Order: sequence, then C-alpha cells, then structure tokens
Amino acid sequence: MERIRTKHHVIMILTAMFFALLLCGAASRPVKAETMKTETAHPDGILQNGDLLTEQEEISVDKRTQARSGADFEATVKAGLDNYQAANSENKVTIDVSACGVLGTEVEQKVTDFLNTHPSYFYVKNSFSYSYAGDNVYNLTFTLTDTPANVSKMLAAYDTEVNAIVKSMDTNWSALEKALYANDYLAVHCAYDSGLTKHSAYDAFVNKTAVCQGYALAFLELMDQANVNCELVTSQSLNHAWNLVNVNGSWYHVDTTWNDPLTDRLGRARHKYLLKSTNSFKSETGDPSHAADDYVYTGRQNDSTASDTSYDAYFWNSIDNPFGYSDGYWYGNNAGTITQYQGSASGLTESKEVKKLIEKWNVWNNDSGYWQSNYSGFSLYEDDIYYVLPTEVHRMSCDGTNDDVVYSLTEDERGVGYLYGFKISQYGDLTYGIAKSPNEETTNKDIDLCGHSYGNWITEAATCEGVGMRKQICAKCGKTQSEILPALGHSYQATSKIAATCTTAGCEIQTCGRCKDTKVTTIPATGHQRAKTSTAQPNFVKAGLQKTICADCGVTINQKALAKKQCKKGQTYTVGNYKYKIVSPKTNGTGTAAFAGVVKDQAKVTIGSKVNIQGASFKITQVSDKALKNKKKLTAAVVGTNISSIGKEAFSGAKKLKIITVKSKKLTKVGKNALKDIYKKAKIKVPSSKLKQYKKLFKSKGQKRTVKITK
Ligand SMILES: [Zn+2]
Ligand SMILES: [Zn+2]
Ligand SMILES: [Zn+2]
Repeated sequence: MERIRTKHHVIMILTAMFFALLLCGAASRPVKAETMKTETAHPDGILQNGDLLTEQEEISVDKRTQARSGADFEATVKAGLDNYQAANSENKVTIDVSACGVLGTEVEQKVTDFLNTHPSYFYVKNSFSYSYAGDNVYNLTFTLTDTPANVSKMLAAYDTEVNAIVKSMDTNWSALEKALYANDYLAVHCAYDSGLTKHSAYDAFVNKTAVCQGYALAFLELMDQANVNCELVTSQSLNHAWNLVNVNGSWYHVDTTWNDPLTDRLGRARHKYLLKSTNSFKSETGDPSHAADDYVYTGRQNDSTASDTSYDAYFWNSIDNPFGYSDGYWYGNNAGTITQYQGSASGLTESKEVKKLIEKWNVWNNDSGYWQSNYSGFSLYEDDIYYVLPTEVHRMSCDGTNDDVVYSLTEDERGVGYLYGFKISQYGDLTYGIAKSPNEETTNKDIDLCGHSYGNWITEAATCEGVGMRKQICAKCGKTQSEILPALGHSYQATSKIAATCTTAGCEIQTCGRCKDTKVTTIPATGHQRAKTSTAQPNFVKAGLQKTICADCGVTINQKALAKKQCKKGQTYTVGNYKYKIVSPKTNGTGTAAFAGVVKDQAKVTIGSKVNIQGASFKITQVSDKALKNKKKLTAAVVGTNISSIGKEAFSGAKKLKIITVKSKKLTKVGKNALKDIYKKAKIKVPSSKLKQYKKLFKSKGQKRTVKITK
C-alpha cells in the first residue's frame, strides 16, 4: 500500500508563474501547428461513481492486439495516479500514456475497467479527458476529488483501515477463510448507506457506511490484498452490485451487502449470500433477491462461471453472527451453541461444542413469554470469546473456561431493555445494544476493553490548502483518535502588477507567503474614463468638428461635424474690438460689410479696407449709422480705402475726436449729423485729389465751423 509521494512544489510554482506571464501577455509563444485533439469522456459503468457495469463495447481483434502491444497501460496509469501530488491547481493529474498504444476508441472502456478493478483510486472523478492524434492516445487527464493534500489524508486513513484488516487475516488461511473473514468484517463494521450517496471502498472502510458498490469494491480490495481472485458482478434490473470470488479453484457469488442485515443489526453478519452458485443466486425459490437475467461481470466471467453448488445449502446459511479465529480454530455462535470449527480450503468442520447458551430473551414486561432465538451475537477479541446474555456481557477462554462478566447492565439500562447483540472493533471498543425486543433498533453504548492509554497529541500541521490532523495513539492497541485541523487558506501578497489600460486587462500576481503558491488576478480594462471634448468651430467657408477623445489614451470616442455658418445680410460680427455688419453676404471674397462700431471705447479707430469675418474676406464699404456715436475716448479715426458711405451720426458726440483721416477715394455719401459735436478744432484729412469734392460731401454734417477739411 506504499505510494510514491513526490514533491513537485517548485515545478508547480514555476508553471503557475509561466502561465501568469502568458496571461499578462508579457511573454508569448509562437503557435505551432498541432494535430493533437482533446476530448472529455464521461464513462458509464464506474462503480465508485454509483454506476453499474455496462456490457463492454465490441472492439475488433486487430485493434485489441494493437492496443495490447507497448507499455503496460495499467502500470502506467497506476504510477501516474500514485503520483497525485503532482496535480495542478485544478487538482488535475495528467499521465503520459503515449507508449501504451491505447486507441481513442477503447480508452473509455480501459479507464472504466481500471477504476473498477482498483478500488484504492477512490479519489479520482469518473470523467476524464484524453489527448490523441490519429488513433493513438497520448495523455490522460484525471481530476482528483479533492486537493492532493486532502487526498493524502484520505489515503492515510484508507490504508490504515485496510492494513489493519489484512493484518488480522492469518497468512495460512485458505481463500475460503479469507472470504469468510472479509464478509464478516464488512457486515459487522459497515452499515448500509440509506442516503444512497456513498459508493466507494473509502466510504465502506473509513466512513463505515456505503451502498452495494462500496461493499463490493471494499470486498474486492480485501481479496486483492489477500491474493484471492475476485471480480465484480452487477445487474441493472436489480440495481445491485456484488462479487465473484475464486475459492479452491471454483468461482462463487458473494454479496456482502445482503449479508449485512438492513436495518443494520448490531454485530450481525449473515452468510446466506456467501459462496453461492449462479443457479442458487438466480433461483427465486423462497428468495427472489438476485433473480434477474442481466448479470454483467468483470474479467472473463459469465453466468456459467459460478456453477459449483457445494455451498448453496451450507450450514452457515442460518448463522447470522460473525465467526472468529484463534489459535488455529474458528469459532461461532450456531443458534446459541458456541462451537469450534476446523477451517480448511474447502470449508469449516465442526470440531467441538464450547458452550450452550441456554438463557432466553423474555418478552418485555411479560416474564412468562420469551423470543424464539438466541440474540447474543458473537465476537472473538484477543483470543477470548465474547457473548451476551439479556443483562450481561461475558468473556471466556476459547475452551469455555474462565467465563466471567465483563459488564452488567446498570439499573437505568435494565429499565430500557435487554442486550440484543454487540460488536468489538479491532481496537477493543465493545459496542453493546439495548432494546425491548429483537425487532426494535438498539440503543448502543461503548465499553473500552483495551483500557486505552493515549499518548501525547501528534500534530501534523494544516497547510494552506490541506487540512492538518492531530492524533493520539493508544500505546496498547494502536487505536488512533484524530481531529482534523482545518486548512489555513492562502496568505497572498501582491508581488507584481501590470496595470490595466482603457482597453486591455492588466493583472496582479500574488504569492502566498506560506506556500509560495501564486495566483493571477485579472484586472479588468478600465474603459475610457476621462472624456475630453474639443470643437473646431465652423465658419462661412468651412464646416466645424466636435470631437470627444479619451484623455488617457487619446482614442476618439465620438465626433460630429458642425455645419458651415450661413452668411446673411444684416448679421453683426465682432472682429477684435470692432463690430461689422454684413452688407453683401458673399463668402467668395467679393462680399461687403459695414464698420458698425467698437466693443470698447478706445482712442484710435482705424477702419481698414477689408476684414476677415468667419473665414471669408469682406470689403469694408460703409460706416454704419451711429457707428462711433458718443465715443468719449475717441481722438483719431481712419476711414479705409473702400468706404463709399458714412452713415448718419457716425461720429456724432465723439467730443475728443480731433482727426479723421479719410483714405477712401470712393466716398459718395456722408449721412446727416455724421460729425455733430466732434472736437471743435478737428481736422478731416482727405486725399488731395478729392479735396474739393469731399469738402462738399462733409459740409454741414453737424460739425462746428471751426472743423476743417484739409488734404
Ligand atoms: Zn487501546
Ligand atoms: Zn499558501
Ligand atoms: Zn482611454
């Protein structure tokens, strides 16, 4: 039962880090052309998963031969699963079976067969995946039912139980004696799981409760360990599983589940379904429990395999107590007579009557009536025979001497009922049951026959993922009391980080300070969090654009065009400190505009020849009515070369206006009161060629007589 327990810690960490890097995109691998495919199989017919056997699919002889060549599949899978410590963080174990020549068409059946014939791999889930290329299977990937650390604990408990049972089997026993002992052990110490969820040998041995698959797998395990040939039998119509065992050269049916009475009777073990022929099993006479015509067998067995009828009507059919063994002889309680038997390859032969138990079990509260049978039960512990009477537990030597009372029911217990059965564990814990009648379930209590003497607690510390255990061992009998210490959980600390951007995920690698396990946490992309909008305004000649970008990464989030501005007559625009009014709304450079005033009063105003408004050039051909009216700061004004008309009251009230320089030679109109109340000694300077003409034009526009028109 020794298993390889290799430490693969460092490799696991390195692998985790490698994947972490891959995830982060910090490293990349070239993708290689790969013809390997992977498939997941969910095989039916694995007993520890609660299934029953299915008829094996027919595989052609050629392919079987091909599959049988190459390395040993069974040994390879075994070695791989024994090395379960190498499981990855998802508890998956991958086994290289490329040298075994297994075909994709048969791998499911081979795995099913493997698990059904190796009950100690109870820690493997039934679904598995395999990689194959062409016909050949390369890898098998199994998933453990728990973390490697916890599997290790389960295996330790499993091995302890199995080893203890196997050790208590005498190596000189015949196969029949070994089968008898295993049957009795399971019937006494395992109880049927009425919850119908416990299917494995682990459940039968460690949890001590299982359904038929668990009993059958546990029996198979014990027979394997004891070198007795054993197979499984199931029936879909009976929804049941049991065993076929080879004793003295012949095969027989053994059903340990049915040999364990339901409901569980304390210390009872039946033998009615031990070493039976197929005919006897299938016969409905008086017992239809196994009447079905759809038995499916593992190995090369079939209905005609178990044809020997030697034990169909054997004496033990009526004995429902376990047998015990001491110093070369078997002992049992045969209907109240404790009897010694000589064991052999072919059976048990009565050799001596040890003691007759004559006491009757009275009907409760009716001392004149009693129940028909003997309800003592039977057990043999450390070479002493134990039996019970209605109110006492007895122990005696195997020859019937030294009979004494180990325990007598207390007054309180005598008020509850009589003793109906008992059992003794391999650690000397005697459990007795009290009930008012044999048809009632017993109330059970324990007596410590060993006088356990426990040493100090031995602590196996819990790890991050694995439970720990503390145990104390009885120095006398080896009984172990254990307590599970819960797993500690990882203590992760961030070791490196790649920040997320707006559009790509980042990641954080955390390492456990205790076990160095690494964990990669993806940091989701942030999305564009900070939007920034910019606008290129439209004008008369160009459409505009409103654009929203991410302030962090610059990506354009959205944009929209803004239509060109319409140029219309009469619209007023400000350019710098000056205001203009559209006169001729052409935007091709031939449009015209009027100077319409200033935003803020200022000393000097120069009206140019052209102005650029909203991207288009306009000739300035007019000075609007009242354009500079009442501008108190105005001292000098220039009238540009394209002005043909100065509006009414254009400079009116500009009291400090001392000089108006007219550059235009196109002036044809000056409006009423255009110069009213400008500075009394102001000068209007005009082009010399126009002096005469403009003197007339500027005459009587509201100005004082002292205002001069000059060249
Ligand atoms: Zn002890
Ligand atoms: Zn850890
Ligand atoms: Zn962004």
